[in-house]
Amino acid sequence: MELVEDSPYRYRIERHGSMRVPGVVFASRDLLADAEQSLAQVVNVATLPGIVTASYAMPDIHWGYGFPIGGVAATAVDAGGVVSPGGVGFDISCGVRLLAADCDRREFEPALLGVMDGLDRAIPRGAGPGGVWRPTGTRELERILEGGSRYAVEQGYGEERDLVRCEDLGAVADADVAQVGVRARQRGLGQVGSLGSANHFLEVQQVTEVYDEQAAAAFGLAVGQVCVMIHCGSRGLGHQICTDHVKTMDQAMARYGITVPDRQLACTPVHSPEGRDYLGAMAAAANYGRANRQLLTNAARRVFQRAAGIRLSLVYDVSHNLAKIETHTVDGTRRRLCVHRKGATRAFPPGHPDLPKDLREAGQPVLIPGTMGTASYVLAGVPGGDAFSSTCHGAGRTMSRHQAARTITGRELAARLERDGIAVRPRSWRGLSEETPEAYKDVGAVVAASEGAGLCRTVARLVPLGVVKG
Ligand code: 5GP
Ligand code: MN
Ligand code: MN
Repeated sequence: MELVEDSPYRYRIERHGSMRVPGVVFASRDLLADAEQSLAQVVNVATLPGIVTASYAMPDIHWGYGFPIGGVAATAVDAGGVVSPGGVGFDISCGVRLLAADCDRREFEPALLGVMDGLDRAIPRGAGPGGVWRPTGTRELERILEGGSRYAVEQGYGEERDLVRCEDLGAVADADVAQVGVRARQRGLGQVGSLGSANHFLEVQQVTEVYDEQAAAAFGLAVGQVCVMIHCGSRGLGHQICTDHVKTMDQAMARYGITVPDRQLACTPVHSPEGRDYLGAMAAAANYGRANRQLLTNAARRVFQRAAGIRLSLVYDVSHNLAKIETHTVDGTRRRLCVHRKGATRAFPPGHPDLPKDLREAGQPVLIPGTMGTASYVLAGVPGGDAFSSTCHGAGRTMSRHQAARTITGRELAARLERDGIAVRPRSWRGLSEETPEAYKDVGAVVAASEGAGLCRTVARLVPLGVVKG
């Protein structure tokens, strides 16, 4: 793929073939070493009806279903712009939440192993069913799908302040439970309040570096502080919704005169019945994902409280797989856009009205998991942020799960991490080996490229003390 360097960390793929807009790739040459396939996906996305400005790729780009993971694409809602489930991904509203403990590393040391054992027992995980909360039936599941974290807090699984620190105050509006199919509901009923498998985790971390004192203070973070990071999504329910609606759109596309270079890009106009139905179902799954993170937060809080009298307060909760209707300026005009972020994080700038008051000056906290053996980061949105105020979402995979599992066994990896002072509580050895740190890009390089490209600024770096894995 021919890349034209526009500025440091910003490359352009010129429009060619049926591309409606150029591709814009934020990265360094090093980070793009094996990116041919995913760059071809950036080009495919640029052909979607109604796409505006560019088909964007973040520095953690890697291959995904139809759209690359680390992709951002916005379509103009009033100009036949489409919505595509592949632009959100199977794990709808997968995201990250960070909690700050009221203690530092030294005070926490004696409690670490007890807390890890408590978390090991308290956090349901793995590929199958099982969750901390069994809804009483379909009606209660619907309440979760409509109310997200808000419903969980109302039922006693959290505090009112949590909601202020959640994207969308904990619940997406416009969930349409009628568009959530029978199979999706069945899968969803048994997994409320569960982590899921391998790439999802609950990690106890400590802040090792603060790069922006003011923002860190606003976020409630300081060097040495203990934190908890939770990464999970909407489990089988979100997956089933994606499967169901891709199928419907694949069949409906021709009726709207839409052709796509890859069937995995199945899409219909935002304003079509299929588009609206998907967005309603997607919002329901997003709420399920948020309730899920809220419930796991509650489970973690109880463990910390009981084992060591430690309190955890929410720094922020943000998704990295979602499509949202937002208003942005395109060529000098304010337009309603359907912004797809898949493996990309919304990063609102300082002053944005949707940010909680006490974070408004600092900008939105952006939570970037790295790996269980290296580091994770907290970033903040910046004024004039590009790609519709978006940035990276993680380190990004370089090896397939299968490849990763061939490089090391789970037991070997656990022993290595334990030697490095990281307590490991895996659900499966195989799952653990698939997540070996070597399977990912260098998260420090990804964050540096994101900052260098002007998408965000770095606030803090965290390293793992203990990891609970799916
Ligand atoms: P994804 O949402 O694409 O599945 O994962 C997001 C990111 O999470 C990955 O790109 C990777 O950098 C990060 N990640 C996966 N497993 C772990 C883990 O156990 N600990 C931490 N800190 N990050 C992880
Ligand atoms: Mn996920
Ligand atoms: Mn994720």
